[in-house]
Amino acid sequence: MIKRNPLVMVPGPTPVARGIQDQMGRETISFNDPRFVADFNKLIASLKNLWRCDGIVFVVAGSGTMAMEMGVANITAKGDRVLVCSNGYFGDRYIDICNRKEFELETIQAPWGKSVTVEEIDRKLSEKKFDVLATTHVETSTGVELPLRELTAMLKAKHPDVLLVVDAVAAAAGAEAYMDWGIDILLTCSQKAFGMAPGLGVVWASERAIEKRKSLPPIPESYVDFEKWIPVMKDTMKYWGTPSVNMIWGLAEATRMIEAEGLDARYQRHRHYANAIRESLEAIGFKCGTDPEVASPTVSVFLYPEGAAIDDAKFRDTVYEEGAHIAGCLGDFAGKGFRVGHMGNIDAHTLVSLIAAIERASVRCGHEIKLGAGLAVLQEILVG
Ligand code: PMP
Repeated sequence: MIKRNPLVMVPGPTPVARGIQDQMGRETISFNDPRFVADFNKLIASLKNLWRCDGIVFVVAGSGTMAMEMGVANITAKGDRVLVCSNGYFGDRYIDICNRKEFELETIQAPWGKSVTVEEIDRKLSEKKFDVLATTHVETSTGVELPLRELTAMLKAKHPDVLLVVDAVAAAAGAEAYMDWGIDILLTCSQKAFGMAPGLGVVWASERAIEKRKSLPPIPESYVDFEKWIPVMKDTMKYWGTPSVNMIWGLAEATRMIEAEGLDARYQRHRHYANAIRESLEAIGFKCGTDPEVASPTVSVFLYPEGAAIDDAKFRDTVYEEGAHIAGCLGDFAGKGFRVGHMGNIDAHTLVSLIAAIERASVRCGHEIKLGAGLAVLQEILVG
């Protein structure tokens, strides 16, 4: 029997389109070959325009965690008052990153499956002056989307001096965000809603963030220092650390695909698909673990039906055998359900295959459903 690779439906990496893979597979040329320099410059310009950034976009080899470090390192100094708002595992990672720096650090942590609210943040920021607020747009461990639009509006109106850092690793290109809402640092990486392979960090910095970096003494970090990368991002002929030529070509193609779809259309598609997946899995007894008010368009957590006695590891292995790779849960949800990434360059075929694989695995694992019940709901929603 022909065995295909399973669909990659974990919350990153996500399926990588053939055209993107082809770009990564090109014969490598030097980073200062004029042909590559032109491609890299074009990528930087596109990312800046698409996200309405008045400052500078950095594309640097590394994972999302590197982008998180780059985000805070460049706009903070020893003694700064930093507030981190965490909705779960990756928000806690930002707390850990900030704990290693000599900040006056304060945190707000949401109960599992819920979001820190804009009101709570406002209250905290009203207690005393903070320099920086760092938070996560979509929390991958819980599927929670922070109400970013409301947060930026509140900050603009009431705390305009606070610099806002947003970890958009599981959000950018899938969940609405634009720099001109009042975001100072927006960061992501290649393997999530961009639909690229892992390996690149992307950091958008506002003009205000760049000014802040310029006002600081030399920062302790070297590789992620904006001052080192600014000349490169303004003219990719310049050198700081060797750009990962083939990854950048891949990201350029992923960005071209985003441009062709249109960011707003892409955001809408993500919301539509997220809704379709949730409705169809709920129709066969899986409960979305995230507060519906803040359920994200890119990642979902599904809890096993009460009383179904589904063995978590066995269930996910069976879904894998049936052709879709889904992820286990973390924290309070560990062992109680699974996580699905539904972001990037996926389409109706992907969703049909995912739901069908979960249906077959359900029956094989003793969760007695009517085959096709979830698919029927999915098809209705997809047809509109
Ligand atoms: N932040 C969020 C919200 C994430 O989902 C992840 C990765 N799952 C990270 C940060 C860290 O990214 P990476 O694993 O690429 O370092």
